[in-house]
Amino acid sequence: MEAKMLFTHRIQWERYVRCNYCWAPQAICNKWQETSTPGAYKTRGIHVPCQYDRVLQRATAALLAFQQGACEAWLEQQMQRAALVQGSYEERLRKWLGWKVKMGQRDASQACVLLYAWEEGQV
Ligand SMILES: [Zn+2]
Repeated sequence: MEAKMLFTHRIQWERYVRCNYCWAPQAICNKWQETSTPGAYKTRGIHVPCQYDRVLQRATAALLAFQQGACEAWLEQQMQRAALVQGSYEERLRKWLGWKVKMGQRDASQACVLLYAWEEGQV
């Protein structure tokens, strides 16, 4: 689990793809507010805490650590579909998890997609 937590620190995040503290979409975290630029958020300041501190980081690390076999097969399939084939599995995974995707109306990361796939029994 500790190794997977360290791994998650090296995910390469796209801009505005997550709250820096909980990694959930900025649209659902109290810490952030929308700006006049579509899809861009700014912090509400240091006096407003993130209510989900590190929740998605811990969930991602736990899935990678305790569901390793199922996760690797599913993640490899997702990365192949996205034509992410250059580099080692871990190099590609650091990129893929940080990619921005639309979930409904909200920008989210592929790490969120992994969590929902697990919740739905796909992983
Ligand atoms: Zn947050």
